Amino acid sequence: MARDFPSFKSGAQLSKQSITIWRIVQTAVWLAGAAILFCLVFFPSLGIVLFWNILIPVAPVLLVVFAGVWRNVCPLATNALLPRHINISKRKRLSTTQIAKFNLVAVAFLYLIVPLRHAFFNTNGLASAVLIMSMVLVSLVCGFFFEWKSAWCSGLCPVHPVEKLYGSKTMLAVPNAHCSECRNCVIPCPDSTPGMHPLTAAKTIYNKISGYLMAGGFPGFVWGWFHVPDHKGLNSIGQLSEIYALPFFGALVTLILFSGFKKIFTKKDEVTIISIFAATAVACYYWYRIPSLFGFGMYDNDGTLFNLKNTIPQWAIYLSMISSAIFFFWWIVFRPSNKNSWIVRPDYATEKVNNKGAIK
Ligand code: SF4
Repeated sequence: MARDFPSFKSGAQLSKQSITIWRIVQTAVWLAGAAILFCLVFFPSLGIVLFWNILIPVAPVLLVVFAGVWRNVCPLATNALLPRHINISKRKRLSTTQIAKFNLVAVAFLYLIVPLRHAFFNTNGLASAVLIMSMVLVSLVCGFFFEWKSAWCSGLCPVHPVEKLYGSKTMLAVPNAHCSECRNCVIPCPDSTPGMHPLTAAKTIYNKISGYLMAGGFPGFVWGWFHVPDHKGLNSIGQLSEIYALPFFGALVTLILFSGFKKIFTKKDEVTIISIFAATAVACYYWYRIPSLFGFGMYDNDGTLFNLKNTIPQWAIYLSMISSAIFFFWWIVFRPSNKNSWIVRPDYATEKVNNKGAIK
């Protein structure tokens, strides 16, 4: 029987009406993304505000609460899956090890690119546009050659490691608005596995490295990132090392702490430890991002959306910082899990798909 939003249980298939609604939303979000890209090139000041000071600050909370909704409407996912939707994808299968390698590349990319925001992307619209266009191109190539979400959305996308870190207690599992049938292209499928986290089924060394780097290293990386001011370009090797030094140092410290906790506590406590580190990372992000958005940041107008310094009292900012930290710890660590996956797995393909992902 066809099941539909909002009664989403396993094997949910979307009705024609729901598919139409999701396609409209996907198109609207894709057009919004294209408009931001256009602004980054032709109206860089506006583009930077829209992308770095509105879209990106909203993204972490979206990943924490509605990871599946984001996976359904992300404009890069729409690009990546376009070849599959219009039936021109070669639909090649990737092995579990290949996907694990892709995941490690995604984590490396995240760690290398994010500090460059201080050097280029935060202040240079064209540089940001080039970065986004490169990802558009890679996502399209991934979708053209590989089955469903295996190569981009669950492989090379640099946001995916953050989804896995933040999205372990999503609010609800929405129907899958991309995969029309499940072909077991990723095992385990991050969309369809309840309580997904960076070390879920870490079978290969590549999974383990990327899992540790995200669960352990990311909180310190975020902390370090906020202690570096924006530069307009890079003038020396010293500046290059400055933008990487604190984020990498922070990542190293929390990674050592994480590894220590993992050794002290039992395997049973692993999920709790990961959730504490995940909550620390996202709480740390808003702890620094909220003040900077409203003109109370550490470095002049870096990342400011509205300068309210002379309009609202400092305690209002402290209150929002503390409230957001309490919210994320409650949501990710203390709130009982509802055992939702991000997205409901669609029915399996008619051909039998074995547990190694091969179509029989
Ligand atoms: S739902 Fe199935 S086809 Fe879609 S990404 Fe997950 S494993 Fe692949």
